[in-house]
Order: sequence, then structure tokens, then C-alpha cells
Amino acid sequence: MHALVYTGTNKVDFREEKDPNPKPGEVLIKVKASGICGSDMHAYHGNDERRIPPLILGHEVSGTSLDGKYKNKEVVINPLISCEKCNYCKNEREHLCPKRTMIGMSTPIKREGGLAELVSAPEKNIFEVPKDLSIKEAALAEPAAVALHAVLLAEKNLKKPLSECKILIQGAGAIGLLCGLILNTEKNSKNIVMSDPNKKRLVECSKYLSANFVSPDDKAIKENNFDLILESVGLEVTRLQAIKSIVPGGTIVHIGLTQPSGTFDFKKLTIQEITLVGTYCYTNKDFQNTLDILTKKKLGDLGWIEYRELKKGSEAFNEIHNGTCIAPKIILIP
Ligand SMILES: [Zn+2]
Ligand SMILES: [Zn+2]
Repeated sequence: MHALVYTGTNKVDFREEKDPNPKPGEVLIKVKASGICGSDMHAYHGNDERRIPPLILGHEVSGTSLDGKYKNKEVVINPLISCEKCNYCKNEREHLCPKRTMIGMSTPIKREGGLAELVSAPEKNIFEVPKDLSIKEAALAEPAAVALHAVLLAEKNLKKPLSECKILIQGAGAIGLLCGLILNTEKNSKNIVMSDPNKKRLVECSKYLSANFVSPDDKAIKENNFDLILESVGLEVTRLQAIKSIVPGGTIVHIGLTQPSGTFDFKKLTIQEITLVGTYCYTNKDFQNTLDILTKKKLGDLGWIEYRELKKGSEAFNEIHNGTCIAPKIILIP
């Protein structure tokens, strides 16, 4: 098969690779659409110790199952593989399973990803694509589930309804935009500011999302101003901005992981009783609910997704890397 292989820092090669060899309980999927995630970019930059070259990246995958109970059906993969036995798995928190693995990752065991013509995945991680959802858009289920999980965690940690909150979304990538769309459509939140240094990206998002779009240094991002901040960037500088601009008693949901550590204003966090919430992936239930949201077209027109050929994937990685890519999400088609 052909695959896009991460071979070293800032390098992915489209090349011939061995077909995957499904283990017991796994099925082979002929990939139809596979998204490039921020975490794939993180790996590409050589900053993810969980993704070691050579590795086929990609975990936002839809396609046709070639075996098993979904044989010849259109399916989407939940790439997070959990043990199903531990306390987390038994209590609908599979995403925190200590034995979890992920496709397109090297640790704790190597699993090749979906930026390829074929991928192997456990049958229990496969969902049939509902007939009203296109196979290409189904690849958006994974990042949309990340956003849904983040919004639900925000809701749980707020003192007032999301519809009454003044909200800042830092970052106009797919996760930031999807959080905004879920807030607009599912939670009736309209008082949203979205910030990003990439002006063109903001213009693109403004066609789909109801919000105020600003650069990160805009005066709209005032001190002690937002009830909720969704931090989808994860830089030291964006975290410092988040803690500065959150209201006393407000909630920051931390999603992005560009810089894993750095300085932070723990004094304000403490004396103003700020809630700081980490969020990771999604539960199986979130994934299922996301498919439902996408099937019912609740997030509106998904024209902000750009589809490109897998064989031109190296250019796509390069454009995302150098900031010339306008689309908040690129999905590659083998
Ligand atoms: Zn992802
Ligand atoms: Zn488990």
C-alpha cells in the first residue's frame, strides 16, 4: 500500500509500505478519508515523544471495512483503544485508561496510523457511518469529539449556563472552531471572542461561526473579562493570557499542548478561585454523540474543511507548518 510516513523532523514521505497485518480482534479498513491533526503536527516538529519516526501518522479516519461484522460497510474509527477492564473503562472514562493505546502512535505499543491506503483497527473501535453522513465528513468525528468533550467539561465546571457566559476561544484551528460551533449550535452561546494570529484563518472561521474575531493582542481581550476560556493553543504565552483575562471564579479549559510546561500565575488562580480544567480526547459516549451531531448536520456547513490527495500530503504538512494554510482542517484522500 501507499502511506504518508513520518520519517524525521519536518519530514513526511509518501511511499510504498507493507500492508498492515491485523491482530486477533482487528479488521482491515480501506481508508477513504484521513485528517491531519494538531498532534500530528506536533510529532512532525519532533516534539512528541509518543510518536517516533518512522511512523504512519493519522488517527481521524473513515473508510470501508474489509472484514468482520462491518464487511463492505462504511465505518469510522474511534482511534483510542482502551482495555475495557479497568475502573476507568468500566465507568465511562475510557480515555483515561492506563493501558490505552492510539492508532498513529509509537507508545506504549506501535500502531501505524490512518494516513495510508489501509489501516488495521480493533473491531470494537469501529462505528458504522450513518447513511446521512458522508464518508469524507465522517473523518471529522474524532476532532469534533475532542471539542464536544471539552465543551461538556466546561459546562460541568461553570457556575452559570454556557448561554450566559462571555467566552474566549484561543486558537482558530479545527478544535477551536469546533468548540465554537458546538457552543453556537448546541449550547446557544453567542457571546464568543475567538483569537488567532493568523488573520486569514480568522476570516475563514468567520464564515461559519458567530463570534468576534480578533488578533491575540487585541484590546477586546481585557483583564478579568471572560467567564470561560477555551485554550486550544497550549503555549506558555496563551496560558498566561488566559489566566490574566479570566474573571474571578471563572473557568479555563486547557486543550492544546504545544508547550507542556512554563510559568503560570498561580497567585491569581488561588486568590480568585479560578478553575483550571485539563481535557483529553473523549469518552466512547462522546464519540457516539458526535456522530449523531454530524449526521444531523447540527454544526452547519463544513465548507471550512479542505480535502486534498494523500500523495500530496507532504505539501499539506509543510503549509500547516509555515502558517500559509488557511483551512482549519485538511483531510487527505488516498
Ligand atoms: Zn486528532
Ligand atoms: Zn482500561
